[in-house]
Amino acid sequence: MTDDCIFCSIVAGDVPARTVYETDAVLAFLDANPLAPGHTLVIPKSHAARIEDLETDLAAAVFEAVADLTPRVQDAVDADAATVGINDGEAAGQEVPHVHAHVIPRFDDDGGAPIHAVAGDRPDLDSDDLDALADSIADATSA
Ligand code: AMP
Ligand code: ZN
Repeated sequence: MTDDCIFCSIVAGDVPARTVYETDAVLAFLDANPLAPGHTLVIPKSHAARIEDLETDLAAAVFEAVADLTPRVQDAVDADAATVGINDGEAAGQEVPHVHAHVIPRFDDDGGAPIHAVAGDRPDLDSDDLDALADSIADATSA
């Protein structure tokens, strides 16, 4: 619990929310400014600002909830698909510094875009660049 965190305040019951799902570790509620009907946020109940701050068990619990919830949310609003995503850090658009996965119902011809539309200009990377990037990420993840 972090006193000045709006999502911790929701978990504590100090700020109202339209809760749609709850486990010991995870809470899901409707987004207050939805991008589509049924737009749902899935959060760990304990405060973690960024994905990197999530303990392994909690990360698993959040994704388990997302996997469980996504088809149910779609069914509830008769959606054709869903976009699921996390803005991880300010530069990616994260406004509330408590990890939350967005489950956004999508509809045929809803005028939206795929997740490929969220980044800026595409980088111009040749095959050597991609090899070097793969190596450096593999090195970073082999610790
Ligand atoms: P992000 O930009 O990924 O940090 O998204 C934050 C999301 O939280 C936005 O979609 C807001 O509409 C939503 N939000 C902020 N405050 C509340 C709240 N009190 N209850 C429900 N959703 C909220
Ligand atoms: Zn918090």
